[in-house]
Amino acid sequence: MTPATLQTSPVTGAASATWDAIIIGAGMSGLYQQIRLRELGMKVRVFEAGTGVGGTWYWNRYPGCRFDSESYSYGFSFDKELLQEWSWSEHFAPQPETERYLNLVADKYDLRRDIQFSARVKAARWDEVDRLWTVTLDSGSRHRSRFLITAIGALSAPTMPDFPGMDAFEGEAYHTGLWPKTPVDFTGKRVAVIGTGASGVQTIQEVAKAAAQLTVFQRTPNWCAPLHNGRIPPEEMAAIRARYDEIFRRCDETFSCFLHTPDPRNTFDVSAEEREAFLEKLYSERGFGIWVGNFKDILTNRAANEEISRFVADKIRQRVKDPKVAELLIPKNHGFGTRRVPLETRYYECYNQPNVALVDTRATPIERITPTGIRTSDAEYGFDIIVYATGFDALRGAFDRIDFTGRDGVALKEKWQGGATSLVGMLQDGFPNMFMLLGPHTALGNIPRSIEFNVDWVTRLLRHLQENSLTYAEARPDAVARWMDHVMEVAQGLLSMEVDSWMTGVNRNVAGRQTRVVARYTGSAPTYRAWANGIADRGYAELVLA
Ligand code: NAP
Repeated sequence: MTPATLQTSPVTGAASATWDAIIIGAGMSGLYQQIRLRELGMKVRVFEAGTGVGGTWYWNRYPGCRFDSESYSYGFSFDKELLQEWSWSEHFAPQPETERYLNLVADKYDLRRDIQFSARVKAARWDEVDRLWTVTLDSGSRHRSRFLITAIGALSAPTMPDFPGMDAFEGEAYHTGLWPKTPVDFTGKRVAVIGTGASGVQTIQEVAKAAAQLTVFQRTPNWCAPLHNGRIPPEEMAAIRARYDEIFRRCDETFSCFLHTPDPRNTFDVSAEEREAFLEKLYSERGFGIWVGNFKDILTNRAANEEISRFVADKIRQRVKDPKVAELLIPKNHGFGTRRVPLETRYYECYNQPNVALVDTRATPIERITPTGIRTSDAEYGFDIIVYATGFDALRGAFDRIDFTGRDGVALKEKWQGGATSLVGMLQDGFPNMFMLLGPHTALGNIPRSIEFNVDWVTRLLRHLQENSLTYAEARPDAVARWMDHVMEVAQGLLSMEVDSWMTGVNRNVAGRQTRVVARYTGSAPTYRAWANGIADRGYAELVLA
């Protein structure tokens, strides 16, 4: 596709420009897609709501924010030169470093010249006559393109609770996913953190160091495990650089693209002593090993899951001095690993500090936010700062916040009323020429690995269209149905499907997200890639091309 091709298509209305492709979002997926489309010679426009690149790493600036993937498994793998130039300072790099890294990528490839910042997309409508998408920004300006690529993230639509009185709070209030660029000073302050997911846990650990008083409002405890972060000295970084091919090959082979992969044994294949020793080893090692490198049956076999849960509960009891607080921190309504496991650094020890208190909001619910703090059913607390670590409308939330209208005037929200569908998470029948980089039912896990695969898959499809003088691609409904059957099938028997969390599409703060659904792809990344590659290898028979 060249800009010249597009000129043959009459542009109607008052759109300011016509592009080969519009990308929504300048996070990791948007940036990489932009690089690949330029290689195809496409005229590309990127609309980004923020004032800078980075997506997740632009918005989530809360104290202590970092990823739980090993840094060297997280960066882009496509640019071997960049891999040799860049040094990660820690095994799990903090947010400012990852934001700097993504800015470096944007600089190196001179990406900003095609990105419009402070440009939030409000609507995107397929125009059947011209076979173009019209994208409308919040500002009202309209832009047209042949292809539309959503790079809007899977955890990017922050959600707030709706306690009465929130607007009248006279102190400072922040959501972790919409953190200000100017640093927030917690020194000597009375601080509330509401929420104990991965964002809350990281925030609590940091705020506990500075605040005069930190009160954590917990509704559901999560099973957390040690991150075991550490600095990477230059000589170790040099050794990592020499191993990059091997590192990324391993990520390609594992279930969810992490460096960790399930142990081939079942929990009860080994003696109690051997089991305990293995769990101790995992608990003492870096990263997600205890979750995704554990005995292979911990997430499917109830007794095996009880065993690992018992092990981690004992650890919490050992680490938290007050037995009552320890019991409150041990999940009772779900087993270890059936929700996303937050990795932590001295999280449990925070509760041994005299300046940290835990409030169980199931026992004493928050009744309202007052001008000076929080009132629960049994107490009134004064705060200078309230942090809402209350999560995201995950997976489809970012899609619902844009009015996508496809063929025959059908809205995506309407199409997804009974639950989101897709073909390999990237295409949707009725929405021609729209490609979703992290759409519902794509493989997640170590996200940059999924991003690189998905971008390359979309790029391959666009190259195929270009080489065959085609301008139209749409998933066939029967192909979507077959993929969705597979998505449903692989979710069978997973203990996580019995638990409320963003992974099962539940968010109590969002209407219509109260019941569990199969919200994500739970099969392995290699299976996902084989399915997606099969579509391409068969010449896209599952798509209508024209
Ligand atoms: P989350 O896991 O959905 O946690 C939200 C928290 O807010 C939960 O504890 C929830 O309680 C609580 N909450 C929401 N509304 C509430 C209310 N009205 N009253 C009391 N509590 C309320 O969100 P998150 O922590 O932002 O993490 C989301 C995902 O982002 C993670 O699972 C992870 O995939 C990703 N993430 C990754 C990292 C990392 O790599 N280290 C860091 C942050 C986020 P309930 O559980 O009872 O609903």
